[in-house]
Amino acid sequence: MWGVGVFFISFKLNELTTDVAKIANSFESRNKKRKNITMTKKQRYEAILSYFRQEMPEADTELEFGSIFQLLVAVVLSAQCTDKRINQVTPELFRQYPDAKAMAQAEVDEVLEYIKSVSYPNSKAEHLVKMARMLVERHQGEVPEDMNQLLDLPGVGRKTANVIQSVAFGKSTMAVDTHVFRVSHRLGLVSEKADNPLKVERELVKNIPVEDIPRAHHWLLLHGRYICTSRRPHCERCGLNDVCPSASHYRAASHAATLSSSDDGSGSQPA
Ligand code: SF4
Repeated sequence: MWGVGVFFISFKLNELTTDVAKIANSFESRNKKRKNITMTKKQRYEAILSYFRQEMPEADTELEFGSIFQLLVAVVLSAQCTDKRINQVTPELFRQYPDAKAMAQAEVDEVLEYIKSVSYPNSKAEHLVKMARMLVERHQGEVPEDMNQLLDLPGVGRKTANVIQSVAFGKSTMAVDTHVFRVSHRLGLVSEKADNPLKVERELVKNIPVEDIPRAHHWLLLHGRYICTSRRPHCERCGLNDVCPSASHYRAASHAATLSSSDDGSGSQPA
């Protein structure tokens, strides 16, 4: 009889502990939500930038290159393709065409042979050869620092020009690619009105201290590539989930997906 009593008390104590833990978790998550809602934009920027300064003090591009020309080629190739793939093709490409003068003498088909495995190889091969020829004709084979001169080059858009200005010339420009665009919105760094890369770029540049801007591009890009991924962001291991206004949304979506997969009846079907 005593044994049953002890078992019952211990069972109830366990239940009580579980309930207390649940209540504590719910308070914690409510407090986090409140924190998200009540933060001013300035506080949000400060919290996020200070996190990145600490976690990624040395953030840099993952593209491999040996000169500014090679960086330009790698960035042009990386449009809608992964840096990993670009780093696989550029060593041989750069061995054949190490600078603008060498590439300017190549035919498009010759360059195409080296970049067949990247996305849109035909148009990128054409852009690279035309770009190299323009660099030789107008800039003595050197990559210009000026934004408008960069934008005149075939295959070079605003994002590419910003990356070159920032990485090669140390200017405080903010390149907005698909990762930077997505992460900036999810973290609440930019308003809903910022519905194109240029608007996002302007809002970020307005709010990020000038000395942080070159690194901030890599911070947001790398965070988007590895943590805040497009389809299923890893909110559970994201160091910004207590300041991110999107965290609760993605957690709820992930919870619902887990419930629906465990409730699909597959384990209880009659044989
Ligand atoms: S909490 Fe989630 S949505 Fe927010 S930045 Fe982190 S991974 Fe992205």
